[in-house]
Amino acid sequence: MRILLNTLVELFYPSNCVGCGHPQDSGTLLCQRCKATAPRIQPPFCQRCSRPYEGAIDGEFSCPNCEDRALAFDCVVSVYQAKGVLRDLIHRYKYSGHFHLRRVLLEFLLEAMQDPRIQATRADGLVPVPLHPTRLRERGFNQAEALAEALSKRTRVPVLQCIERRLYTSTQTRFDRVERMRNLRNVFALRKNSDVRGKHLVLLDDVLTTGSTLHECACVLRAAGVESVRAVTVARG
Ligand SMILES: [Zn+2]
Ligand SMILES: [Zn+2]
Repeated sequence: MRILLNTLVELFYPSNCVGCGHPQDSGTLLCQRCKATAPRIQPPFCQRCSRPYEGAIDGEFSCPNCEDRALAFDCVVSVYQAKGVLRDLIHRYKYSGHFHLRRVLLEFLLEAMQDPRIQATRADGLVPVPLHPTRLRERGFNQAEALAEALSKRTRVPVLQCIERRLYTSTQTRFDRVERMRNLRNVFALRKNSDVRGKHLVLLDDVLTTGSTLHECACVLRAAGVESVRAVTVARG
C-alpha cells in the first residue's frame, strides 16, 4: 500500500528532487546540488573492499578491514560512502516503502559497474543477496533483488537467484565484525538446481558494512565452483 502511494506521489510530482524536495526540470530524480553532497570514495582506497584510506599507500599497504581474514570475494566495488543524502535515500528505499527511489540508487550502481575491477572480466550474472522469507514478508520486497533487476535491464547481465537464506538472523547493526561473521555462519546455501560452475558472478547488495554478508555468499558460490566472485553495492557504510 505504501509502495503504491509513493508511486502515485511520484506520478503527480515528477519534477521534485527526492533529496531536498525542490522543483527541478532536469528530468532526474536527484538534483545536482543533492547529488554533489553524496561523498565519492576517492583514492587511495583498498582494492579489495573499497575502504578509503588516509594518506598515501605504498606497496606494503594492508587494509585493516581485510588483512587478517581470507575473504572469499575478489573485490567489493562501492563508489560512494553511505553518508548524507545517499544514506537517507537508501534508508527510505529500504525501510519506508519509497520504492521509486530504486531509480536513483540504480545510478550509483551503474557507476560501480564502470569500475575497472568490474570491467576487467566479463560478468555472467548478477546475484542479489537474498532475504529470509520471513524478512521478505515483513519488508514486502528484497531491496537487493529489486536493484539487481533494474541493473540487469541496463547492463544486460542476467539476474541469477542462485543463493537462498536458510536461517533467520537478527539485525546485525549492533554487531562488530567478528560477531557478524559468527552470526552469519551457514546462513546461506546454494539453491537447488543452480549450476554456476565456471561462471564469473557479481554479487549485489545495497550497503557494504564489514563485508561479512558478501563474504558468506561468496563462500557458497566458491564451493559451487564459481570462477570469480566480485560484488557491487550502492554505497559503503
Ligand atoms: Zn535536491
Ligand atoms: Zn580492505
